[in-house]
Amino acid sequence: MQKMHDMDHRILGKKLELFMFSELSPGMAFWLPQGSKLKNNLKNIIYKSHMLRDYAYVESPAMMEDTMWKISGHYDNYKENMFPSIVEKRDYLLKPMNCPMHILMYQNSIKSYKELPIRYFEFGQVHRNELSGTLHGLFRVREFVQDDSHIICRHTQIEDEILSILDFIKSLMNFFDFKYRIDFSSRPDKSIGSDENWEKAESSIKNALSKFGQHYQLNEGDGAFYGPKIDIKIEDIHKREWQLGSIQVDFNLPQRFDMTYIDNEGKEKQPVIIHRAILGSIERFIGILLEHHKGVLPICISPNQLAIVPISSNSKYQMAYIQKLKKALLLDGINVKVYNADDTLNKRIKTAEKDKNPLIAIVGDKEVEENSLNIRDKRKKENYQSSLEPFVEYLKNEMHVVI
Ligand code: ZN
Repeated sequence: MQKMHDMDHRILGKKLELFMFSELSPGMAFWLPQGSKLKNNLKNIIYKSHMLRDYAYVESPAMMEDTMWKISGHYDNYKENMFPSIVEKRDYLLKPMNCPMHILMYQNSIKSYKELPIRYFEFGQVHRNELSGTLHGLFRVREFVQDDSHIICRHTQIEDEILSILDFIKSLMNFFDFKYRIDFSSRPDKSIGSDENWEKAESSIKNALSKFGQHYQLNEGDGAFYGPKIDIKIEDIHKREWQLGSIQVDFNLPQRFDMTYIDNEGKEKQPVIIHRAILGSIERFIGILLEHHKGVLPICISPNQLAIVPISSNSKYQMAYIQKLKKALLLDGINVKVYNADDTLNKRIKTAEKDKNPLIAIVGDKEVEENSLNIRDKRKKENYQSSLEPFVEYLKNEMHVVI
């Protein structure tokens, strides 16, 4: 029974006090203090990995007037899934995607061919009106955050961009310990854009895939009407397959929004957009991670990197040492939770274990005197005594994630 519970992220979320839902906003997660730390840790890793790859981090509004969604085509094709809002007699819609926002940012100034590719990256919080009957924990929600990017580039740059996205996917999936596969979907019967553009885009993707060297599945004719796409699918520890993000080449929006750049002869040219999310929905990915790891997450994303249990909850001597350590670790981005409730020592250790902390440090007078910690490593199932300094270095190393 216990094991079954650890495989359901909804039960884990409740038990570990990570998130909750309310009937007042169905399908929209409330992130509780522990869950917020977990989500932030994951976002920090994802943010850093984008910065290392020369993405440009941006933030855009949650809603925009309907005129914009009419230009993008969402109003005609996606309106039922969008949440409307009327403000001062003007019609607004909450964004279900971030693309039009990034296009407006691109158009904020005239762009030269020398500036391309521009890789906007946003933790875009989007809303999609899924039917209430289909909502399911973090897996199917109405509000979620995407690791969303729009790469605006010249047609000749598609191949290099796709190849570097594939490399990014590989690094992320290896880091999170997921096996993954790639599907490539080509031009459907009904499509927009010239034959020349389609041929160029498809051959760029095929070249990138062959340089990448990993097997992929070709789904002939399954692409979107506005461009070919790649889907990323992972397999978790329970052998379940999940669709994560996708890479989508798009000729449609650049045309609809009349996007341009100035080429090397001073002429206006139309760029291409590559829509790209790797994890897809951060909420969903956290749900998958929780079930994949049965609640004991890797140290770098765990809500707390270290749990500390004083041997005597009312010892000022022990608490002063713990508070000092907690502050020093926090400055290095390491979260500490102190379990000093007025219970027996055993009960406090049990609570720290039940919270699935990867590392628990027991601190008594001996540890304070020796400037050390007594560590219980839940993942490796070992107990050991460590001096403070090397252990802090070890924690810092665990947090120093380079993807
Ligand atoms: Zn997009």
